[in-house]
Parts: sequence; structure tokens; C-alpha cells
Amino acid sequence: MSAVMITRKVRKWEKLPGKNTFCCDGRVMMARQKGVFYLTLFLIVGTCSLFFAFECPYLAVHLSPAIPVFAVFLFFFVIAMLLRTSFSDPGVLPRALPEEATFIEMEIEAANGNVPAGQRPPPRIRNVQINNQIVKLKYCYTCKIFRPPRASHCSICDNCVDRFDHHCPWVGNCVGKRNYRYFYLFTMTLSLLTIYIFTFNIVHVVMREYPVLVCFFTLWSVVGLTGFHTYLISLNQTTNEDIKGSWSGKNRVQNPYSHKNIIKNCCEVLCGPTYPSVLDRRGLTKEELSASASNSSNPTPQTMNTSSREEQPPASKGPPLASPDTDAETALAKDKTH
Ligand SMILES: [Zn+2]
Ligand SMILES: [Zn+2]
Repeated sequence: MSAVMITRKVRKWEKLPGKNTFCCDGRVMMARQKGVFYLTLFLIVGTCSLFFAFECPYLAVHLSPAIPVFAVFLFFFVIAMLLRTSFSDPGVLPRALPEEATFIEMEIEAANGNVPAGQRPPPRIRNVQINNQIVKLKYCYTCKIFRPPRASHCSICDNCVDRFDHHCPWVGNCVGKRNYRYFYLFTMTLSLLTIYIFTFNIVHVVMREYPVLVCFFTLWSVVGLTGFHTYLISLNQTTNEDIKGSWSGKNRVQNPYSHKNIIKNCCEVLCGPTYPSVLDRRGLTKEELSASASNSSNPTPQTMNTSSREEQPPASKGPPLASPDTDAETALAKDKTH
């Protein structure tokens, strides 16, 4: 009996540890729970369909054909912004590799010195200076990294996300550094669309004495949300920072990211540079599987990896990818027992 290493090329998204789902070979990335996202789509498409079917024919004839044309344009823009927010990488930070994690742990232990038994070790924090303000970088025990400033760990997606704003079940994704402006454009244009539909509802009601009030509730919630995010953008603040009160109250720490100018803050958040995804989820990686060959003198040559040496693990270590799989299985078994 001898172990034969079989290597298979896989896309990196197949190996990512967070709780995300991927479609279209890694091009589309979302949170795992998507029920509320489908509800969002249904509400928008449903409301607009009612408007197009029951009100637009009358309004186009008696007022102007431009009314449905502009509504269609706005509708497609809203859907495009929703899908852009929902299907993109919000700015997920890759977890530390096992070697990196070991190195960081060693560094932390060396910095903390010997903690007497029974005493709690000091919190894992690093201080950095940003615009003359001290900002604390917290250690993420799941991702094994010191999070960059403004990053936070999303418990639903199980990833650290850069410039984390919040996890939005309505769009079925985290809202962070890479999709915040699309999220804002989505709420903004959805507000416009609901105000537009609501206004022509009223016009229709007045013209025909016809009782239709479709989106009164949506109007206030969506417009209110847009107003809140406009306020946050003008301060260059995230929802997460607003909820935690990071730059207000007893801390007396000024927001080091704010330019103290509403126009500059809006320009940075909405028109600043776009950031590439650091996940490289469509990149190729190799997955090694071990298989037992019954006859050592007759291995199957097409599946045996002989091209490069470094992919063959040292015999003492055993198959490298067998253990994470077993870990996952034991974790699953543990989950079932709880
Ligand atoms: Zn994390
Ligand atoms: Zn999330």
C-alpha cells in the first residue's frame, strides 16, 4: 500500500472559509441567507409592475408618455444598483495563513511576556496614529489578523470586512468599503422611484377618484434610510461607528477620517477611488487529495503529481488537505450534537 497524491485545480472561492455563497464560478458573491433579498426584489418588481399595469396606461394617455418612460429608466437603475451591491465582494479581508497566524501569535506572546496563571492576558490591541488621533486595531480571533482601522467582523458572513458599515439582509450582503456607494445609490434611487410612484398615485387618485395608495409605508422607510446615510456620508462615518459611538460621547475622540467639510466627505465616499477585491476568488489553487493505491509498483500515472516537488508533502506530515476536511467534519458533528 502506498499513498498517491492527486492534484486538482480549483478556484480559490471554493476554499474560502467565510459563510458566503458563490455563483457563476466565483463572479457572484453573497451572504448565505438570501430570503430577505428575494423579498426586496419581489417588493420592487411587484410595486413597479402594479404601477406599469394599472396606472401608466391612463397617465401616458391623459398626462404624458414621458411618465412611464422615466419610471422604466429609474426602475432599471434601481435594480442595477441593488444587484451591484448584493453580488459583489463588500471588501472581505483574507484570513491569515496558518504560518502567518503562528507568527502573529508568537509576536503577541513575546510582547505580553509571561502572564501568571489565573490572570487574564492583556487585550490584543495595537495602536496606530491616524491624523493625530490614536486608533486601536483589534485582533480578530477568527481571522487571526489585526483588523485594519474601520474593519469589523461580520458574524453572519463570518468574515472581517474593510470599512464595515453593516450587514444588510435586504440586499443579502455586507455593506463595506467596496459596495457602500452602490448601496447608497440604491437607497437614493429607490427613494426617488417610490416618491415618483407615490406622486403619480396621488395624481391618478385625484384625476379618476380611484383609491390606490401602494407604497406609503415604503416611502417613509426608504426615504428615512437614505436621509440617515446622507447624514453619515456628510460626516464620513459608518453605521457601525455611529451605533458604537466611536467618534462621539464620552470617548471625546474626533473622527480622524472626516475632512471636516461636507463636500469633501461626500466626494471621498461617493467619488473616491474604487478598491480591487483582495480575495482573488477566481484565481487558481491546487487541491491535493490522497488516495491509496493497492499496488505500489503500478500507480496511475495520469493522476499522480510528478511535475513539481513542493506540492508533494513530506511523508511525516501526511496529506495536507485531509486534516482541514476532517476538522470540518468534526465541527459538523459537534454542531449536530448541540
Ligand atoms: Zn474576522
Ligand atoms: Zn455580512
